[in-house]
Amino acid sequence: MKTVSVRERNQLNFSGGPGALPESVLRQLQEAIHAVPEVGLSILGISHRSDWFAAVVAELQSNIRGLLGLPPSYHVLFLQGGATQQFSMVPMALLAGRSRPADYLQTGYWSGKALPEARREGPVRVVWSGQACGFGRLPRDEELDFASDAAYLHYVSNETVEGLQFHRVIGRDEVPRVCDMSSDFLSAPGEFGRFSMIYAHAQKNIGPSGVTVVVLKDGLLDGAPDAMPGFLDYRRQIEAGSIFNTPPVFAIYAVLLVTRWLRDDVGGLAAMGGINAAKARLLYRALDRADGFYRPRAAVPDRSTMNVAFTLASPELEKRFLAEAEDAGFSGLAGHRSVGGIRASIYNGLQLGAVEKLVGFMDDYRRRHR
Ligand SMILES: *Cc1c(COP(=O)(O)O)cnc(C)c1O
Repeated sequence: MKTVSVRERNQLNFSGGPGALPESVLRQLQEAIHAVPEVGLSILGISHRSDWFAAVVAELQSNIRGLLGLPPSYHVLFLQGGATQQFSMVPMALLAGRSRPADYLQTGYWSGKALPEARREGPVRVVWSGQACGFGRLPRDEELDFASDAAYLHYVSNETVEGLQFHRVIGRDEVPRVCDMSSDFLSAPGEFGRFSMIYAHAQKNIGPSGVTVVVLKDGLLDGAPDAMPGFLDYRRQIEAGSIFNTPPVFAIYAVLLVTRWLRDDVGGLAAMGGINAAKARLLYRALDRADGFYRPRAAVPDRSTMNVAFTLASPELEKRFLAEAEDAGFSGLAGHRSVGGIRASIYNGLQLGAVEKLVGFMDDYRRRHR
């Protein structure tokens, strides 16, 4: 740590979440905490009923639709309770009181967390589970037998803990697709119009914790139960324009700044996807050329461009890796507490240069401990 400046350390943040944010966004947030230039008040003390905040919400809705290439018939909501609250809100609206089961995929830690919450509300069919293979891979198309009359299909596009990512859209077009994109939202282009609902909390890829973006197609809620708690009812949230109660003003503003950065500085999702793919390629190449010294967790076709998870030959080597990495200024490299090992999370805000430095460290560590 002695040789690493605070700024450099901030740029070497490989945390699984909350993740690293772009430097320019951090600077604007710093200024906004003192005073938002257009308003002359600290962002921490601006009313959520102000004209300024109404404009923030409107611009952010439009930026998200624009980046995803979605028409105005998709509602864009900013909710609280994290992705975890969506594990409940989704089946409360789309499953409770129905007779047809919802199709769920169990591909890792987070999709597994969604299951018991859905079962509380109605019948669930697990289409495929990766439990037997230790969540080391995702299903192939021929292993997936989706029901044509399922209430909806739920899956996680990027399993943050295991480092597994779907590189295709799955499911039947006649069944509503609901996807938790918390850890790869706005990281690359995609066919987002094929989803009826997408949700993603901000803190992995697009902002601080405190806000969850929910994008949903108009009409999806037509059969939702009448009596639901207002706060947990998407229809009430839509009516209120995401200001059902006091929203997380700061977090929403931070996400707005990230969407502006994505559009204006990075150049859109295609450019972002290119940068993210380059970062992932560098890291996986470093793992693959290590002759088994580093052991990637994910099967090659399912490797995540956001979370690169691997192990070493022994717990001692891993412990030492983490300690030496910390000394060299890298942070957040410990694997999720449920699986251990190492995980380099390389979200949008983490620069290519940081990955190059990590690869240099990894090659050097391997030479010294081989
Ligand atoms: C981190 C994560 C969650 C949990 O999110 P909370 O906001 O803490 O509730 C859910 N899903 C995915 C894919 C995640 O990566």
